[in-house]
Amino acid sequence: MTVVTRFAPSPTGFLHIGGGRTALFNWLYAKRHGGKMLLRIEDTDRERSTDAAIEAILDGLKWLGLDWDGDVVYQFSRAARHKEVAESLLAEGRAYYCYATPQELEEMRETARREGRPSRYDGRWRDRDPAEAPEGVKPVIRLKAPTEGETVVEDAVQGRVVWQNKDLDDLVLLRSDGTPTYMLAVVVDDHDMDVTHVIRGDDHLTNAARQTQIYKALGWDVPQMAHVPLIHGPDGAKLSKRHGALGVEAYRSLGYLPEALRNYLVRLGWSHGDQEIFSTEELIQAFDLSSIGRSPARFDFAKLENLNGHYMRQADDAYLVEAIEGLLPELGDERGLGRTFPPALKQKLVAAMPGLKERAKTLVELLDSAYYLYAQRPLKLDEKAQSLLGDGRARLDGIPAKLRAVTDWSAAGVEAVVREHAEAIGAKLGQVAQPLRAALTGRATSPGLFDVMAVLGKDETLSRLEDQLSNAPAA
Ligand code: GLU
Repeated sequence: MTVVTRFAPSPTGFLHIGGGRTALFNWLYAKRHGGKMLLRIEDTDRERSTDAAIEAILDGLKWLGLDWDGDVVYQFSRAARHKEVAESLLAEGRAYYCYATPQELEEMRETARREGRPSRYDGRWRDRDPAEAPEGVKPVIRLKAPTEGETVVEDAVQGRVVWQNKDLDDLVLLRSDGTPTYMLAVVVDDHDMDVTHVIRGDDHLTNAARQTQIYKALGWDVPQMAHVPLIHGPDGAKLSKRHGALGVEAYRSLGYLPEALRNYLVRLGWSHGDQEIFSTEELIQAFDLSSIGRSPARFDFAKLENLNGHYMRQADDAYLVEAIEGLLPELGDERGLGRTFPPALKQKLVAAMPGLKERAKTLVELLDSAYYLYAQRPLKLDEKAQSLLGDGRARLDGIPAKLRAVTDWSAAGVEAVVREHAEAIGAKLGQVAQPLRAALTGRATSPGLFDVMAVLGKDETLSRLEDQLSNAPAA
């Protein structure tokens, strides 16, 4: 059997973080078993589905590196097939026309509310002759669901879940306007797409029972179900925006690497011993449904940041420069940068990256920590840098001339000169290096000062120094 999974988002909003994780689990499971992951856009809700959401979902998946097999299937385009299946059930006596009016249904709900029990359709048209149909009422088609016994879902995550059939009413398959319900469309599509494994959020667990009844009525095999607990916030409550319930594209803007987010997401709910960091290959080898936990995982930004920092430190320098360049359309303007890096700056960024990436946890921090490379002269010093330079300006007297004389402009070459200068004025190295750093980078922290000077080059270093050491203290 070829494993076929699917990701089936409704395009009513962006690809949120829980959806990203569902897609990832489906992708990993398919890869693990040499199978396929299909993508189905569930756009039957015409009012709420938008092209912008479809685009955001496709973009989000691509950014996360989750590719799908074959063409995207649009559920709405299959409406005729859904109708055909509903009518076939009708012809076999496994479904029936129901003419209950909206008022009647409202009365049923009202009675249930009064009696404090869950509302269910009472089956009033189940065995009634359609010849009694009232004038002018367009019927829906309902499933003739079993009234006795149990409906069982053998779930790969939740275990055996049992419903009493008397608690499940005859669900609507086809609305009076001929459009399919979600319940019918999902079953027909999963069947026609040869889906073998349905991996999705456990908010769909009750739907799994309903869908199982439809499969049974059609005489089709029920796919293996796996309902994954939803992601909760750090406080254990439903995930809120503040605690991470954002679209995948927001994580991109916050400066996370897709591989780090992927690694983080897979660990939200799935574990493999106490291993935290996985290469994609390792994940594919290790992923299984039985190691998905039964309780909701808690989203933890700090953990995601640490993981991202780890991935950044391991990443190739040129790759990181490309990644921060990807943020410029959003963040470039406010930093005085355009939408792309000029080639010379790009070179400097690559050269400085080994020092920069040691400290940053996100790509946004990385971009900001590279400020000294793209800052325009005269630099604007932040408060800490102003105070360092204020205290130490005198200790830099004479340094420009000594640096001007350097012929070997390398980290080692400038280090020798700065050390010598510190010794000559009887100061510790830090007492010279700190104000120097402030003058050259505008900040109190930066990658190693001598590396910074080497990357800036002799002319830029001297010009920045002179900007700050000229009489008026720079603001
Ligand atoms: N379209 C449904 C959703 O976005 C998922 C349906 C399914 O996975 O079966 O919640």
